[in-house]
Amino acid sequence: MDVQNLGQVLRSSRRIACLLGLHVASDCGCFDYRDSENAYAIETHYGYSPEEIFSAAFYNTRPKLFFEYYHKEILDKLGEPCGALHTLKRMEDEGHIGSVITRSIYGLPRRAGIRNYVEMHGSVYENKCPHCGTYYDLDYVREADGIPFCKHCGSVVRPQIVLDGEMIPNEKITASAYEVSQADTLLVLGCTLRSTLARNAIRYFEGSRIILINEEENFSDTIADLVFHGKPRDILPKIYE
Ligand SMILES: [Zn+2]
Repeated sequence: MDVQNLGQVLRSSRRIACLLGLHVASDCGCFDYRDSENAYAIETHYGYSPEEIFSAAFYNTRPKLFFEYYHKEILDKLGEPCGALHTLKRMEDEGHIGSVITRSIYGLPRRAGIRNYVEMHGSVYENKCPHCGTYYDLDYVREADGIPFCKHCGSVVRPQIVLDGEMIPNEKITASAYEVSQADTLLVLGCTLRSTLARNAIRYFEGSRIILINEEENFSDTIADLVFHGKPRDILPKIYE
C-alpha cells in the first residue's frame, strides 16, 4: 500500500486513536534519556543515571540536583512539534482524530494545537505545590533560579509528571482506555507494538484496523493491518500532498 492509500484509509476513519511513541518525541528534538549516549553523558556529568535523578526520591531528598537536571536536560531540550504532529492537528480539525495518547512529557500535542490528548505521564506544562495545591505554569518553573518554590507556602513546586518508580494516575489509564475502546482505527506512530504504550492500548482496542508507522522493523509488526517503515514525520504529512 502506498501513502496515498494510507491517506484514504485514515480519512475514511470515523474515529482514530493515535499513539504517539517516544521516537516521535526524539524526532521533534526532545531529550531522549533512553538513548545510550545521552544516558552515558548524564551519568558522567551528574554521577547518577537519568532514572535515578528523575525519581520521586530525588525530588524529595535532592531537589537542587533534581531541578538542575530538570532545567538543563528537560526544559532546555523541549524541541518543536514535527510534521507528524501538525498533520495530526489537521486530521483532528477534519474530524478524524478522536484523541492523541502519549507517554511523552514535553507537551507536544498541545504545542501543535491538538485539542484532545491524554498525556499518560503528565507534562512539563502542569506544576503544582504539593502542600497548598497552587498550580504553576511552565514559565514559573522555567524562570525559577534553581528550585521553584511556592510563592504562598514556600514548598518545592512539583512538576505533574510521573517520575521513575511512580504509578500512572488512574484517571489517565481510564481516559486512554476509553479513547482506544471508542476508536475504529488505532494509529501507532514512532514505537513498536511491543512498547508499553501500544501493548496497553491494544488490549482495549475493538476497532477494525491497526496502522503502524515506525522506522525500525520488529517481529510484532505483524499484529498491524498496515505497516509503514520510516519516520512518522516523513511519512504522515504525505497524506495531504
Ligand atoms: Zn504552596
